[in-house]
Amino acid sequence: MLGKIIKGIAGFYYVHIPTEGVYECKAKGIFRKDNIKPLVGDNVEVEILDKDNFLGNIVKIMPRKNELIRPLVSNIDQVIIVFAVTDPDPNYNLLDRFLVAIEKENIDIIICFNKIDILDEVKVNNIISVYKNVGYKVITTSTLKIEGIDNIKDVLKDKTSVFAGPSGVGKSSILNELQDKVKMETGEISAKIKRGKHTTRHAELMSFDDTSYIVDTPGFSSIFLNEIEAKDLREYFIEFLKYNDQCKFQTCVHINEPQCGVKEALNNGQINQNRYDSYKMIYDEIKDQRRW
Ligand code: GDP
Ligand code: ZN
Repeated sequence: MLGKIIKGIAGFYYVHIPTEGVYECKAKGIFRKDNIKPLVGDNVEVEILDKDNFLGNIVKIMPRKNELIRPLVSNIDQVIIVFAVTDPDPNYNLLDRFLVAIEKENIDIIICFNKIDILDEVKVNNIISVYKNVGYKVITTSTLKIEGIDNIKDVLKDKTSVFAGPSGVGKSSILNELQDKVKMETGEISAKIKRGKHTTRHAELMSFDDTSYIVDTPGFSSIFLNEIEAKDLREYFIEFLKYNDQCKFQTCVHINEPQCGVKEALNNGQINQNRYDSYKMIYDEIKDQRRW
């Protein structure tokens, strides 16, 4: 049977098998055979040992689509980056760092701006238009007025999603709004998992429905970019890409080079100044780290 690891505790893996339930599994032999350790998020083949007591054995780990380190989880389809339009005001540089880090992993991104009930529509539109113009899917929400929550539900369907964002922007409130559904679906999972009452810093998945999962993790609120080479950073500011071929030099990093298509687009207002400033700031930072 095929399932997905939703939690791992002390050598046990809890595998959600659609329409069946959650099986407590060991992964005997996998280590030696495939030389990989099962991760939350892995799609696995389970040999059922005891159907009544939901016990099984993981016999195979399917190839991973991707693997995140923080949170430690595999096969992520998308990250929903949550920021508030105000209270706290968006830290755009932090948002751009999130975007870079996730672009690097080649994972789909949806930006959610929450708390739209506090700010007037014109200001909200000013904020979101920047990121829409870059090419991102943007969803606006208010958990206070229950707006936009259905749009979040729609994008979660059939995917494994991570919610990321700084604290205070309303991530928990949004998850709470989804919870009616999450709770219902995970009732049996929670009962099963409570037995192993360990706290773990590892990610776990909540099943939103039989084919949709949300990564439940306290982490992922800050982002470090030290694995990115300065010269590669330009790849992750996706709105720069279409101007690359207008740069004189193929390796142009769009900072001091002459005849730069990106800087021209910046001067024409086609690229947002704040986005470019973020780029430059991150670029300099990576360079400095390398130097030390
Ligand atoms: P988290 O740290 O991202 O999980 O944020 P929380 O969900 O704990 O929310 C932080 C604060 O913002 C709480 O006081 C919430 O009541 C409030 N909050 C969350 N969503 C909204 C919203 O849509 N509108 C307003 N006005 N406040 C919100
Ligand atoms: Zn350039």
